[in-house]
Amino acid sequence: MLVEENKSLKKLSTFGCDETCHYFTSIDSNHSLLEAINWCKEKNKPYLILGAGSNVLFTKSFEGLVLKMGITGIKKTNETATEIFLTVGAGENWHHFVSYCVQKSWGGIENLSLIPGTVGASPIQNIGAYGVEVKEVIASVCAFDTHTNDWITLQNSDCAFEYRDSIFKKNKNRYIITSVDFVLKKQAILRTDYGAIKDVLHEKGIKKPNLNDLSSAIIQIRTSKLPDPSILGNAGSFFKNPTISKSIFEKLYTQFPQMMAYPISDNAYKIAAGWLIEQCGWKGIRKGMVGCYEKQSLVLVNYGQATGKEILAFSEEIIQSVLKKFNVLLEREVNVL
Ligand SMILES: Cc1cc2nc3c(=O)[nH]c(=O)nc-3n(C[C@H](O)[C@H](O)[C@H](O)COP(=O)(O)OP(=O)(O)OC[C@H]3O[C@@H](n4cnc5c(N)ncnc54)[C@H](O)[C@@H]3O)c2cc1C
Repeated sequence: MLVEENKSLKKLSTFGCDETCHYFTSIDSNHSLLEAINWCKEKNKPYLILGAGSNVLFTKSFEGLVLKMGITGIKKTNETATEIFLTVGAGENWHHFVSYCVQKSWGGIENLSLIPGTVGASPIQNIGAYGVEVKEVIASVCAFDTHTNDWITLQNSDCAFEYRDSIFKKNKNRYIITSVDFVLKKQAILRTDYGAIKDVLHEKGIKKPNLNDLSSAIIQIRTSKLPDPSILGNAGSFFKNPTISKSIFEKLYTQFPQMMAYPISDNAYKIAAGWLIEQCGWKGIRKGMVGCYEKQSLVLVNYGQATGKEILAFSEEIIQSVLKKFNVLLEREVNVL
């Protein structure tokens, strides 16, 4: 096992903050994962699993071993008249996997095109975009349970998937995901209702889109709205869209009739966090090297040398101002370390 010491995490997370980890190693098999876990136990060091670093904010150096997940491979395990079953290594690049499936005309994840990160991290916050969540296509998740020291397979219903949440996010660091089993459709049911998808397809003159058209439309929308982390450090949406009760919604609605919110059950509403932030005047605001992105106020950006602590402090200012104006508490989506 090759262990590097005092490694910079700047290029290992999309926020690009210049923190370090005491120890670093790459994982390319279940065997190397066990070796790394045993190394930590022997030396009494904490560990952190890192995928592509697109949903983390390092605010200090990590005083243990960072394990960079690199188990790859896309394997077809079964096929029926209507479905395809695939097992995918946790270290596979998510968008590469989406493109592979789109090329094969296997439907289900095309709306999740261009989300950065690894396949292994996709169940952690149940990634979602354009009306689709990854939980809809996950059959099961294979992981090493560090509490019981067992290899386990959690079926979809065991994963406690919710909006940007799962059993893996609730039990931080307990489960190390090594592969994910997906079920995709041979006859894709295209979901084109959400966001600007219809407009883009219309502009391109596409009346009967196929999987590739839909994926390309989403790539176009995302590229025009979201900052490219290789140019401007960011981790996508910094905050979750908060859920509020129907009675709070009704109270707020009388004050702010233009509020962007929609019902998610008989008693609960989800409000667009971006709208709340924008109403507090944060959109496009920059303080030193940190900013609230000019085209999408849910995204915080690092203009260069911002530290994780500065980004965290900026996010706290936003949380406090939204709380003051709307009495709604924003929760961070990004994993603060
Ligand atoms: C420009 C941009 C756009 C984005 N858009 C979206 C979007 O539309 N929808 C969305 O849901 N997200 C979005 N994200 C967030 C991010 O892409 C996803 O959360 C992604 O799944 C993170 O993958 P990662 O490999 O980078 O995880 P990392 O950031 O490396 O890790 C995230 C968390 O998961 C843990 N982890 C990672 N891999 C494993 C593993 N194998 N086993 C156990 N724990 C693990 C880490 O310890 C950490 O706590 C966006 C990010 C960016 C930068």
